[in-house]
Amino acid sequence: MTAFDVVIVGTGHGGAQAAIALRQCGFEGSIQMIGRDSQPPYERPPLSKEYLAGDKPFERIMIRPEQFWADKQVGLSLGQSVTRVDAEAREVHLASGERVGYGRLIWAAGGDARRLDCPGSHLDGVHAVRDKRDVDALMADLEGGAKRFVVVGGGYIGLEAAAVLRKLGCEVTVIEAMDRLLPRVAGEDLSTFFADEHRRQGVDIRLSAKVERLEGQDRVTGVVLDNGETIACDAVVAGIGIVPSVGPLIAAGAAGANGVDVSYTCHTSLEKVYAIGDCAAHANPYADGAVIRLESVQNAHDMATTVARAICGDPQPYDALPWFWSNQYDIKLQTAGLSMGHDATVLRGDPAERSFSVIYLKDGRVIAVDAVNKTKDYVQGRKLVEARAEIEPELLADTETPLKEML
Ligand code: FAD
Repeated sequence: MTAFDVVIVGTGHGGAQAAIALRQCGFEGSIQMIGRDSQPPYERPPLSKEYLAGDKPFERIMIRPEQFWADKQVGLSLGQSVTRVDAEAREVHLASGERVGYGRLIWAAGGDARRLDCPGSHLDGVHAVRDKRDVDALMADLEGGAKRFVVVGGGYIGLEAAAVLRKLGCEVTVIEAMDRLLPRVAGEDLSTFFADEHRRQGVDIRLSAKVERLEGQDRVTGVVLDNGETIACDAVVAGIGIVPSVGPLIAAGAAGANGVDVSYTCHTSLEKVYAIGDCAAHANPYADGAVIRLESVQNAHDMATTVARAICGDPQPYDALPWFWSNQYDIKLQTAGLSMGHDATVLRGDPAERSFSVIYLKDGRVIAVDAVNKTKDYVQGRKLVEARAEIEPELLADTETPLKEML
């Protein structure tokens, strides 16, 4: 059995950044990354944007050139799934039957795309958008002539895919179970703006609609909704969230329910085992200490750095400002803070001009900013969120006054 000072499970954003940050901190021990994906670490955000659009080839979405990992003496074990963690023996078991020992384990396994759970969901032409293989299969359908797409899920990934598919000339219908787009992450102003934009671009948006079943022999040919309507299609894209990949950790006894629970330094309840990124449930200061999981590059990166510091003997609490972005058509959305629990919003600018911001307040204090084609508000708004600034709504709405002057 081989053993390493640090074993990292997952070669996505969190895993890759953990290895990078460890070396940056001066960690000289052995590092081994084990990943299910057969490709070296690559960025996920372009998968529903430039990569799907054909605007960026795979080489340009790699987190580092392949040689980097060898240069930094970070071992890459690709195409390998960890199926079991033995926390007492401090080893992980791989699907291949191999066992790998660890001094410290960093679990950065993200999540698996949630699959549609209805009759017909096994048919060919039903796609998730989580990793390169998913998107390559979707692109193969496009090359094969698929033109009519149903996107299930009106969250960021579904909407980004819808925008690209429209740009490629496809017919697109978006099905969202709730009564507005982006229901989990955005306020109503933003939901309405994105619904208007997508409709303007020719997307058929169906709200409060649920998928009953998928039709087809071997390949999907239609989506049947709960109102009985059938939408004919050549392919389906499901963007309905993820299920945290934490099975082996929970089976090993780690505390967790929605993901795996971690401390302020991203330590799990198992000795010498950390967890970071999409799968890590943590108390977030920007959510008033509520235990949440965040699915963003920022969170994966900053948690990776937190763990690297802790391993290098300089533990610091994870308290980074959450931020996120999404690109759809020519719209660049940038968000800072977490809007959950807001009790008021301020619209700053006119959505009709396609450049505006929404500021979220709780108890009169700024807790989040969503900036649409308005990078200045995003940059300056971050400071207001960090300070939880208390500012009159009338002033926040005044586009003549820069946000930075309000602190
Ligand atoms: P991941 O990057 O998903 O990496 C997890 C890795 O672990 C995967 O490679 C997986 O194969 C591997 N793995 C899982 N289980 C095992 C196992 N048992 N054994 C071995 N390996 C395993 N965020 C933004 O901030 N902005 C965006 O615009 C944005 N767009 C996105 C678009 C798409 C299409 C997707 C899928 C995500 C997007 N995100 C975006 C979210 C962001 O990419 C994730 O939050 C981030 O990748 C999380 O990093 P992670 O390391 O936790 O997980």
